[in-house]
Amino acid sequence: MRILAAEDDLTSRLMLVAVLKKIGHDVIQASSGNEAWDALQKPGAPRLAILDWMMPEIEGIEICRRLRQIPTTDPPYLILLTAKDDVKSIVSGLNAGANDYLIKPYRTAELEARIGVGQRMLDLQEELNRAREALAHEATHDSLTGALNRRAIYEALSHELSRASRTGSSLSICLCDIDFFKQVNDRHGHLAGDDVLKGLVQALKSNVRDYDMVGRYGGEEFLVIAPNTNEAQDNLLFERLRSVIADARFPTQAGDISVTISLGVARFTEERSIDELIAAADEALYKAKAEGRNRVVHAAGK
Ligand code: GH3
Ligand code: MG
Ligand code: MG
Ligand code: MG
Repeated sequence: MRILAAEDDLTSRLMLVAVLKKIGHDVIQASSGNEAWDALQKPGAPRLAILDWMMPEIEGIEICRRLRQIPTTDPPYLILLTAKDDVKSIVSGLNAGANDYLIKPYRTAELEARIGVGQRMLDLQEELNRAREALAHEATHDSLTGALNRRAIYEALSHELSRASRTGSSLSICLCDIDFFKQVNDRHGHLAGDDVLKGLVQALKSNVRDYDMVGRYGGEEFLVIAPNTNEAQDNLLFERLRSVIADARFPTQAGDISVTISLGVARFTEERSIDELIAAADEALYKAKAEGRNRVVHAAGK
């Protein structure tokens, strides 16, 4: 593990560094409070720091205080090092935000054991963060296709609409629905249908621009949000999606399957609420179906 050893006294620092290196750690040294603070602010900073209380410029306890004011889900583990062994000092060190407290002179075995505790706490913190990220991902993504789920794409649209309204930028949305998808399930089975949905989302995602968003709006219906487009770009983007899908063959457990999609496009205008915008796209989609499917229909502007 990378550890910051901050201690102004050269002899003590070298001893500390020697112990840490001996037990296999990668050590960054600081000989003043400023150096320690700088090392802890850098990207990829050590996650465990041993901070001498008495240091020039910024004291170790002050570094603890400052670090704890920074909101983060991944705070460093801080061990305060000092000769102050009275209860009052220990309490104020811990209250300032130190995780642990080591009194000089310390035994090497104790230092090692306390670093072991720190390592375990950091591992636990990392595990919790990973679990939290996984939960957040699950809450916003469709588990079958990995696209944003209905709630998340709706929220994203609401967010993009306020932005477009605030900045006067343009935005269009498109509802894409697979043509005769029921027949795919009937002919090839539901699992093959699932494979088509997965492949289709991949194809949609890789053919929109970086800042466009794709969400699963219903069973075999997807919502694409395309910020900052003019009508000509809309035509290109959605016609490209239509033709890419029409030309693709999606590998499934029942062999390769081709499908087409119908697309209903609506452009944001100040007069349309979010639900009116979606309704306009839905109406255009309905028209695309009625006119023969595998086509893009644009809703009339409001
Ligand atoms: P249209 O061209 O009019 O859209 O015809 P369609 O058959 O696609 O439309 P319909 O709404 O009748 O059928 C949609 C089908 O999508 C029915 C449903 O079983 C299927 N579907 C919805 N979600 C899933 C899913 O997660 N997996 C699979 N395999 N099928 C799904
Ligand atoms: Mg000192
Ligand atoms: Mg359909
Ligand atoms: Mg449908």
